Amino acid sequence: MAVLSINCFAQTSERIPTKGYALYTADGDLKPYEFTRHEIGENDILIETLYCGVCHSDIHQGRNDWSPQTYPLVVGHEIVGKVIKTGAKVTKFQVGDYAGVGCMVNSCRHCEYCEAEEEQYCLDGRVLTYGNKDIYHGGELSQGGYSNNMVVDEHFAVIIPQNADIEKVAPLMCAGVTTYSPIMHAGIKRGDKIGIAGFGGLGHMALQYAVALGAKVTVFDITDEKRDEALAMGAINYVKVRNQEELKGLNNTLCFILSTIPSAYDPMLYVNMLKVDGELAVVGLPAAKDAPKLTVTALGGRRKVWFSVIGGMKETQETVDYSVKNGIYPKVEIIPIQQINEAWKNVVDGKVHFRYVIDMQSLK
Ligand code: NDP
Ligand code: ZN
Repeated sequence: MAVLSINCFAQTSERIPTKGYALYTADGDLKPYEFTRHEIGENDILIETLYCGVCHSDIHQGRNDWSPQTYPLVVGHEIVGKVIKTGAKVTKFQVGDYAGVGCMVNSCRHCEYCEAEEEQYCLDGRVLTYGNKDIYHGGELSQGGYSNNMVVDEHFAVIIPQNADIEKVAPLMCAGVTTYSPIMHAGIKRGDKIGIAGFGGLGHMALQYAVALGAKVTVFDITDEKRDEALAMGAINYVKVRNQEELKGLNNTLCFILSTIPSAYDPMLYVNMLKVDGELAVVGLPAAKDAPKLTVTALGGRRKVWFSVIGGMKETQETVDYSVKNGIYPKVEIIPIQQINEAWKNVVDGKVHFRYVIDMQSLK
């Protein structure tokens, strides 16, 4: 990919030509797509994309698992790149800095949650990075990071430290913050016995954060394939949930469980493992037809179940800073964009250890 010349965009009123890979239908392949992004506003930065992580949400949303989408759709919300132009009022970034973009590109900025820096819960106009009507730019469809550039308000970009491992940092923008946030909100501390259900892109980040806090972590997954890796990352126990023998004796033993499971499952399996006042935090988002079902009367013992959505911009910056400082990164497989369809299949089939990251230089 040729590096975009800054001089191409001398006037901020010009739309930005962009190359990417898009889905044209819910069940088709991702294929090359050329489009334009909105002009660079005075608070916006233009980023040349270097890497973009492949999140299971890309697949759920692209395949209409949650709700019908508009096509062509460019997904991707684990984006890292280099700032190549800044709007007149930008203060946080300079040309040449590394910047990251996650799952949101705008919000109302004035509701109680925006003011509390929890923009992910904005009441009045959150715009997700792709597949959303961008009400701040004429209602156009937001398009994501499987592409060579991004234009975003600096508030919705995080500073990527210059010493970050740039090939691995992109997944922190979603897999990182989505697991860091509930673990921190739950107040996990040294010695706590907790569980991580689903040991994929999100799950292996959750394990690393929990281990860094000193928790004793049991990992739950459906195969044996990642057992050694979980133990090597610091889990004290690994349970293959399809083996009834391994589930014995676990009820009423854990104070917190984070579910990152992306497909149909019975959440009561995990509720029953919680101690009194224990919490099941859910971030995994199965397809609408597979939505997990709770039996409320079985929550006796003051067990709590809550759902968490990514994290606010302040918390996303905190996640990146904490992770880089403590050397917490995803295990990544770098792929060229031309392998994206095979990569999606592998994610669905459970064959990725643990996150694909697209090298956007491959996008010619
Ligand atoms: P991955 O596919 O990388 O990981 C999912 C893991 O769960 C895999 O290891 C998979 O096993 C395992 N798994 C599947 N079914 C079960 C089961 N019944 N019990 C235990 N483990 C199971 O997905 P991601 O980590 O990228 O995403 C996970 C989910 O989180 C997705 O639904 C995604 O949409 C959602 N998400 C939610 C966010 C939020 O803000 N709430 C943000 C980002 C993602 P195997 O590999 O063998 O198939
Ligand atoms: Zn994601």
